[in-house]
Amino acid sequence: MTLNRRGFFKIGAAGLGGTALCGAATARAASGGMPNLTAPAQPAELHIGCQQGLVPGKTFEERFDFLEASGYDRVEITGGNWEWLAKNADALAAAIKGRKLQFSVTCIGARGNAGMADPVERRAVIDTTKSIIESAAKLKAVGSIMCPARKKIDLPFPELRERLLSEILPEILAHAEKCGACVVLEPLNRTETMFLRLVADGAAICRDAKSPAIGVMGDFWHMTSEETSDMGAFVSAGAYLKHVHIASRKTRKIPGVDGAADNYVDGFKGLKLIGYRGAISIEAGYPKDTTDEQKKKLLAQAATLIRAQWNQA
Ligand code: MG
Repeated sequence: MTLNRRGFFKIGAAGLGGTALCGAATARAASGGMPNLTAPAQPAELHIGCQQGLVPGKTFEERFDFLEASGYDRVEITGGNWEWLAKNADALAAAIKGRKLQFSVTCIGARGNAGMADPVERRAVIDTTKSIIESAAKLKAVGSIMCPARKKIDLPFPELRERLLSEILPEILAHAEKCGACVVLEPLNRTETMFLRLVADGAAICRDAKSPAIGVMGDFWHMTSEETSDMGAFVSAGAYLKHVHIASRKTRKIPGVDGAADNYVDGFKGLKLIGYRGAISIEAGYPKDTTDEQKKKLLAQAATLIRAQWNQA
């Protein structure tokens, strides 16, 4: 008997919707026709973070006191370039000693984040990234954020990806493995780079780099315009996900500033599915003319909002 295309589609549809399921199909359909999901080996934990530069205060201590009192237990290191970080590492370490607060990652760009086709710039990126990772390791942070090919892209994507994997990452990752901190790739949006926009693409680079010292992150701000599904993006990253940035979803301000648009529940569901235990860290601006007192209020409210939506997810 030969099947025409119409017959083939009919049988396919019956197979998908029919009751004659057996074996794995039966197991998958056990819960009202929906797949049964396996819980992650370690359940997810919520750790709310903020970039230190966003917190009003004259000293690291003052900023860290405020964060701890306002529901935060992670702080992201920002403040300048790699030289600033090396200079301030001791003061940062002293300010966090004995606290529940921990450092999450450093968000400090290497000297020239792109330049992958220029050997001189490439060398500078490798050297400064290694220095940043060393400081991150000293501070017991998870690692350092890296945005590859952020500026000018002058190679076709396959060659650029290959160059990143074979000529830039190996030396950095060998150093990172020794130090005990990670490179955390950050996908941006298309106006910043077309090279790495999707969390799943970053995770695929991690897989191909074959090192325990590389991970990817998701930034809700970039994800709002680039991803088709917050949950899907985080699930695609799985164990490669090391960090999350969060901001209001219309104007990139402190979460909550954009009202009902600031919904992260779908993404948080994804984080729970993969047993995520890293930070959800605010990287955002303030509305114009916000006073320090108002900034503190917004940060405290944002922690409450993130916790409430996490519980909802
Ligand atoms: Mg970000």
